[in-house]
Amino acid sequence: MGTTRMNVGNVEIVSLLDTPFEIPWQIFFPERSESDFEPYRERYPRSYGERGFRTQAGCYAVRSQGQTILCDTGIGPGPIQFLGGLRGSLLEDMRGKGIPPEGVDTVFFTHLHGDHVGWNLSANGAPNFPKARHLVPQADWDYFGKMLETNQQMQQVTPLADQGVMDLISGEQTLTSEVTTYPTPGHTPGHTSLLISSAGERAIITGDLAHHPAQIDHVEWCSAFDADARTTTETRRKVFDQAEADRLITAFCHFPDPFGKLIPLQGKRVFQAL
Ligand SMILES: [Zn+2]
Repeated sequence: MGTTRMNVGNVEIVSLLDTPFEIPWQIFFPERSESDFEPYRERYPRSYGERGFRTQAGCYAVRSQGQTILCDTGIGPGPIQFLGGLRGSLLEDMRGKGIPPEGVDTVFFTHLHGDHVGWNLSANGAPNFPKARHLVPQADWDYFGKMLETNQQMQQVTPLADQGVMDLISGEQTLTSEVTTYPTPGHTPGHTSLLISSAGERAIITGDLAHHPAQIDHVEWCSAFDADARTTTETRRKVFDQAEADRLITAFCHFPDPFGKLIPLQGKRVFQAL
């Protein structure tokens, strides 16, 4: 497994694990056959499970200029019926890695799917990150609308607005002079990445721009959860071309290795874990 901490100039990024999980290939990638992924098994063995596509609900903590920014909050405490009673453990993982939830200044959501907003609220409905402002992409807030109240997994968002601890964001927003939001639409309309730039080094946390590392090479392979296949494919191509050209450190919430670089290798573009 790759490293769980990276220094990008003066910024520290810590990867956090809520929980690994598996989903049948046909449910996650209904337009692809399982055999499409076989040529990539040897390079990415940990993205292949016994019962299907193996992935994880991952998050990142970014420490910059005295601020702690939490990027996404995982799938939550569960039990998640859709995934066989799955339970996440993000808060424990944070404490174990020296990032107490009480110390988070900003919670930033790459998008509002249920596996990225799950730990917002404690059992009594109070925010788990009591000091934090919570930044929600406006386009996702608009797009999901009523679903934020009716979908079990997504009910962790609207109460943040009711409690006055949420801000809607759009476009590129400066979180610190080293950390900027960067819209990467397609997976959802408001899907947003985080760009980190410090002391000549750069990284991008791309949220769900890809789920399986084979999509680094096949940017046109979309999942059932990509809202707009054409836009997400265009965004993937643009961001991955740039990441490869600039040798950016890249981070994906659903990859088993938290950090890597996109490099050309034997006619393919691959994710090389760091
Ligand atoms: Zn996701």
